[in-house]
Amino acid sequence: LDSTTKHPNNDHNIWLIFTKVSNNSPLSLKFKNLVYNILNVSSVPLKFHIIVDEKSKNIAKNQLSEVVYRLNKSLVFTFYNVQDCVSKLNDIVNVMTPFFSSRPGTYYSDAIFYLSLGLYRIAPLSQKRAVLLDCDLFFKKDIALLFNEFDSFKSTALYGLAPELTPVYRHILHMYKLKHSTSFGEYYHENKISENQHPKGFQGYNSGVVLIDFEKQRKSKEFLYVISKENVKNMTEKYKFRGHLGDQDFFTLVGYEYPHLIQTINCGFNKQLCTWWRDHGYSDIFDNYFRCNHSIVVLHGNCNTRIPKD
Ligand code: UDP
Ligand code: MN
Repeated sequence: LDSTTKHPNNDHNIWLIFTKVSNNSPLSLKFKNLVYNILNVSSVPLKFHIIVDEKSKNIAKNQLSEVVYRLNKSLVFTFYNVQDCVSKLNDIVNVMTPFFSSRPGTYYSDAIFYLSLGLYRIAPLSQKRAVLLDCDLFFKKDIALLFNEFDSFKSTALYGLAPELTPVYRHILHMYKLKHSTSFGEYYHENKISENQHPKGFQGYNSGVVLIDFEKQRKSKEFLYVISKENVKNMTEKYKFRGHLGDQDFFTLVGYEYPHLIQTINCGFNKQLCTWWRDHGYSDIFDNYFRCNHSIVVLHGNCNTRIPKD
């Protein structure tokens, strides 16, 4: 059944979070549709790693068996208990939640938003790399294209992330930008002239699609400092940064201060569809952030936006 274990270098590992689900919750349908969709468009053998609580696990099992029946394809998957995972993230969660959670507190619904930062401790050591995906995605093209992005990582990159496609970080940096001239928080523009690491405006990152190089991350002493309380405190104070989007707030700050750790993949790998900020004070500039001129591989129906599938 599982021939890929012989070739861990070519593993195609996909991590999904599927927790707090009830039978008629929208997430249950999104999960089934995504697994079906990914298997349908994939040219490579995949391994799914699914983080669940006890109740969600039973729902996931039912959804996966429907997918297998409908596609008549085999499916390689492993479940991981959410409490076991969260217990390995405690230090990270304690550092991050005061700055990046809307309701700081250490129950698991908060902790799971920082999974991307400690997944290297949860994934088996044989796993050298993985992608962590939201369930509200739709692949228009082969998921192998996403895994191929690992091949063009700069040597120092631990993560691969696509840009955030709203002005949320322009908003968060408002006070900082009053006193400092910076491309941080500005929209990306193909025609702007290069002058630094984020030459064309840096919108920040979105964490609906996260590529992780575990092999490099497990060896990185620098990463341990970057996630330390000292560093997170320094970064947030410097930019007067108070967020509420969990790991992606942290990644955005890392993009400001330690850009060598993150490979920016293009917006076509995470074309977000949420337009909330257009109607909340940014109608004049929203489209500059939202546009994506790359070929679309992945649509992301964030903030519960319906995904057009044609
Ligand atoms: N999620 C979950 N249970 C929940 C809410 C979220 O397991 O009750 C997981 C799920 O994988 C989801 C991800 O967390 O895709 C992020 O949430 P969502 O995609 O709804 O956030 P958005 O992209 O809209 O910010
Ligand atoms: Mn999402």
